[in-house]
Amino acid sequence: MTLASVPQSRLLATAIPGPRSVALHAERLKHVTSGFGTALPVFIDRAEGAILQDVDGNRIVDFASGIAVTSVGASNPLVQEHVADQLSRFTHTCFMVTEYDSFTAVCRWLNEHTPGSFEKRTALFSTGAEAIENAIKIARSATGREKVLVFDDAYHGRSLLTMAMTAKENPYKLNFGPFPAEVHRAPFAAPLRWPTGAQNATAEALAAVELILATEGPETFAAMVIEPIQGEGGFIVPAPGFLPGLRDIATRHGIVFVLDEVQAGMGRTGTLFASNSEHVVGDLTVTAKALAGGLPLSAVTGRVELMNAVHAGGLGGTYAGNPLACAAALGVFEAFADGKLIENARKIEVAARMILEPLLSGTSVVADVRGRGAMLAVEFADRGTLAPRADIAKEIAARCHAQGLLVLVCGTYSNVIRLLPPLVIDESLLNDGLTVLRDAIQHVNAGQLAASPETVPA
Ligand SMILES: *Cc1c(COP(=O)(O)O)cnc(C)c1O
Repeated sequence: MTLASVPQSRLLATAIPGPRSVALHAERLKHVTSGFGTALPVFIDRAEGAILQDVDGNRIVDFASGIAVTSVGASNPLVQEHVADQLSRFTHTCFMVTEYDSFTAVCRWLNEHTPGSFEKRTALFSTGAEAIENAIKIARSATGREKVLVFDDAYHGRSLLTMAMTAKENPYKLNFGPFPAEVHRAPFAAPLRWPTGAQNATAEALAAVELILATEGPETFAAMVIEPIQGEGGFIVPAPGFLPGLRDIATRHGIVFVLDEVQAGMGRTGTLFASNSEHVVGDLTVTAKALAGGLPLSAVTGRVELMNAVHAGGLGGTYAGNPLACAAALGVFEAFADGKLIENARKIEVAARMILEPLLSGTSVVADVRGRGAMLAVEFADRGTLAPRADIAKEIAARCHAQGLLVLVCGTYSNVIRLLPPLVIDESLLNDGLTVLRDAIQHVNAGQLAASPETVPA
């Protein structure tokens, strides 16, 4: 296949958004529900690697990857080849009607590569939320129990059950209730904001989980669901020992331990799965986002006795494991095979920390630089009080966007800028993007100092 190549460099051809994007956005407002937000109202013409080229000819550096989806690059040739071949043969049969072996091949790869050396089976779906819902169906069916334990700052999706499991009300849940019952929430061992200090986070959070289970009856919980590194909640890396501690608690009480690797998985954090880093093994592991390089595909992978506990016909979906999406996933697996993308995720962390960590002492607005591999974030808050500064995160993101760098804001307090570059990003483009971000932070920090009377130099 031939590709019109998009140069891997930033280019400002017009203001961002440019006139064509502005016109297309005005047209959109006439036809598209206003219920969808937009991080940057720019229309994309083509994309490759870590560059999004818009309809005005601007080349935008992509630190979003379509929310951690295009980790193998925006138009990876391996993904394109597999999808093009599948497209020429057939697009759909419905796996519940007649079969195709790419579905089996994706399941086999996930069984072999997700953490856990036990015998596994996999079910494929289309979206992350759908896979999480199905993980709960499987856990309930296998245990005969109803309750689900989730955590503060969690994000698991926008369907009715996964909204109930998601922590943040606005925008995800506002006006959309009532929600399914039997979803209980426990503290997440978040180091920066743990009330008695990061060193106590693991022990105290685990004690809180034990208290909730003792109160509610541990024998009534089907599943405990956790993101090994939280995504929308603010890229929060749990305090060391928290995940292994939860794993122990789940085992002790016969609760199915579900790892939501939807955002953190598939090489993003410098290991194939984020849970690899503390050797934590889920009974069920849920994947989506980067799994199929931009086509909709999600999966639940886990212990054979759980996955096969559901009655025949109990799982499925018209588009579940669609042939084009399975083909794309096989291209993604090939892209990961030589280990270079995962190595690159680690290099991205080193380069980013080198540029961003000095801002911890060099500014008064950066409270934390955290994350792992190519899943990194900067949290903005007032020095000392840690009062969250959503206004600063928003201003910095806007400056980056104007300069042709796409970053996303996240966090329960909307005060975190997250970095999710494609793992194929080259060093010079990465450093260019990081420099734009650093300059934006320094600029906004200087404005803060000027505006605050007690910091005027003598
Ligand atoms: C995005 C996300 C989901 C939901 O995935 P969708 O494909 O948007 O339904 C679930 N869990 C986590 C951790 C996510 O980041």
